Amino acid sequence: MERIVMKFGGTSVANEERIERAASLILKEVEQGKQVAVVVSAMGKTTDQLLALAGEIHPNATSRELDMLLTTGEQVTASLLAMAITAKGIEARSFTGWQAGIQTDSIHSKARIEEVKAGKVIATLNKGGVAVITGFQGVDGTGEITTLGRGGSDTSAVAVAIAIEAARCDIYTDVEGVFTTDPRMIKNASKLIEISYDEMLELANLGAGVLHPRAIEFAKNHQMPLRVRPAHIEGMGTVIKEEVEMESNLIVRGVAFEEDIVRITIMYDTPYNGSLANIFTALAGEQVNVDIIVQTIMEGEQPSVSFSIKNEDFAKTMNVLEVNKAELGYKRADFEVGLAKVSIVGSGMVSNPGVAANMFDALRLASIPIKMVSTSEIKVSVVIPTTHMEEAVAVLHNTFALEQIS
Ligand code: ASP
Ligand code: MG
Repeated sequence: MERIVMKFGGTSVANEERIERAASLILKEVEQGKQVAVVVSAMGKTTDQLLALAGEIHPNATSRELDMLLTTGEQVTASLLAMAITAKGIEARSFTGWQAGIQTDSIHSKARIEEVKAGKVIATLNKGGVAVITGFQGVDGTGEITTLGRGGSDTSAVAVAIAIEAARCDIYTDVEGVFTTDPRMIKNASKLIEISYDEMLELANLGAGVLHPRAIEFAKNHQMPLRVRPAHIEGMGTVIKEEVEMESNLIVRGVAFEEDIVRITIMYDTPYNGSLANIFTALAGEQVNVDIIVQTIMEGEQPSVSFSIKNEDFAKTMNVLEVNKAELGYKRADFEVGLAKVSIVGSGMVSNPGVAANMFDALRLASIPIKMVSTSEIKVSVVIPTTHMEEAVAVLHNTFALEQIS
């Protein structure tokens, strides 16, 4: 019997009516002879609300306690959805991450799944029942409850799909699929029929919020087909898999953007004889994610290193630099806030030179200043002032004719 995983995001289970709708979608798959494991997020904005509540009680609560609190959100959804399915005459059982055998490392609030011991879930499926599993959470080797980071229930879904050897993993959400850019911002954005794991991974890492990056990584490593599809309307969504057809020869397949970027610049007095590794080891030790790094060492110029981080890591970063100032041996650390990153992504770039040049040209014509640049085989990112972000996305979306695909 074919097994599938159906994952429902927060908006798709935000109230009774939507939980009912999710149950109906599940029922349909069961009636078609599928064994169904379901993974759920917390209802609507529950996670945000719980975080706000915690903030009022203790502004710096430990991540262990926050994990304990936040995981309750998913438990509410799992039990209610199991009840909704049962009310339709089909056996269903809810499971916490621990009960579903989702084992993680011990890094609270950013834990990684190490193994899924899906015996209990599989037993439920084999008896004809639906297993409804809380996303976003697991348990570490000592029995502590952990969470996987915001948006992490996508990753739970893929991990469960792999563990139960599902044929595919469907991610139900409040959008019609994966778009060339955020349709809430750019009205003529188009829905993609398919996209490769690599392109989707770049887009997700670059701030397109549709899918959790770890989920795509997991799916790629195990060649688990993913589908992002709407829960609120009929629609086939977007398939994410290894190889995709070149839709109308698209070289660029998407434009991603992300606000709240900070650029840090560290200046040295004398030619830098330390190692770049020192700075980034110190930051990594505090779990700061550094993105773009630019080092300038030129004859007759003050040596410097610039790098970009997310605003949320800003205070921590400045603190690490301050505490380690003597050891790192720099003279001055500067920062610039109010920046955004805008990126173009497409596998076609590998074999089409000049894409970056087109991008820079289009931005220059629009008088948008570029602060930093980074590239990979299939993407080009620029850091620009946030005040120009929306305009830059619109310009690039046009430049690469992304409104024309249907
Ligand atoms: N409820 C969690 C969040 O809001 C996990 C998820 O929805 O994926 O981040
Ligand atoms: Mg999500």
